[in-house]
Amino acid sequence: MKTGSNGLSYPFDNRPNPGELIEVGPGIFWVRMPLPISLNHINLWMLEEQDGWTLVDTGMATEDTKALWEEIFSTHLNSKPVKQVIVTHMHFDHLGLAGWLVEKWGATLCMSRTEYLSSRVIINEIKSDPPEATVAFFRAAGVEESILDEFKVRFNNRSDFVSPLPSHYKRLTDNQVLQIGSLQWTVIIVEGHSPEHICLHCKSLNIMIAGDQILPRISPNISVRPDEPRANPLHNFLRSCESLKNRLNKDVLILPSHGDPFYGVHLRLQDMINEHKKGLQDLLEFCSQPRSVAEVFPILFKSKINIGNMVIAVGEAVANLNYLVSSKELVVDIGSDGIARYKQA
Ligand SMILES: [Zn+2]
Repeated sequence: MKTGSNGLSYPFDNRPNPGELIEVGPGIFWVRMPLPISLNHINLWMLEEQDGWTLVDTGMATEDTKALWEEIFSTHLNSKPVKQVIVTHMHFDHLGLAGWLVEKWGATLCMSRTEYLSSRVIINEIKSDPPEATVAFFRAAGVEESILDEFKVRFNNRSDFVSPLPSHYKRLTDNQVLQIGSLQWTVIIVEGHSPEHICLHCKSLNIMIAGDQILPRISPNISVRPDEPRANPLHNFLRSCESLKNRLNKDVLILPSHGDPFYGVHLRLQDMINEHKKGLQDLLEFCSQPRSVAEVFPILFKSKINIGNMVIAVGEAVANLNYLVSSKELVVDIGSDGIARYKQA
């Protein structure tokens, strides 16, 4: 067992090689798939039953990931079919191959309702040019026109990373108990990173599949999306972190979507809460003068907006600003140039 500098401990010495599985609990297997983005991998989970398999998350829709799934199917399924595919949330590294897997196996897709319906809207939306309101959202943030032009050109590229979703699914709700083989998994809904993200908690084994809600070394992205510009996802995320401290034992094994499985969930939750509160405090102090979203970005992330980080950067900065507007610590004014500026109330 290795202990990290942040006080977490990591019980597994090895990570699965591409196409391989590591058993992390009875009938619970860890798979790692490559991602074609700066975050270079995602962890997926396979749950074995007497008569089939449940997959949790799917990887992005790339030829590499499909080939690795085919390799796993031909060597590790013990002649049993995939019966269901559970997707923790709508981001394409989790959802990308859900449609392909469900069609290939005739399996059932299981998601929360908001994640499923939002996915279908987004997959449809990225087939065409971005809505004018989406471009306006980034323009009001103070993003330069040259970056916006590139954003418009690249808008459809994301559609390469997701396969079409089936037109029906099975809804998962908070506290629902899923019997998967001999194990019972309780669905825990959390908010903030995405609107209705699910975690799966096996109380008898004291293991939780955490999706992106709790990652050992990086903080999940908390973003406002252009389709709900006044949302306050950071409030929801912090509330979910507090609630998880009450719902989980201190010694639960966390299976995160990125990084290594770890113990120390209460420490990690408190670290994330503290980190966000510090970021909010720094931001509030910086807004003693009116500041646009683009101007506050270096305070939060120590870098400038570019085409590669623009969507996440603006989304995350607005999430922080909206939090402080909701708590009445900041006020926002739209200038004659159409750019929103925030300052201390
Ligand atoms: Zn995510």
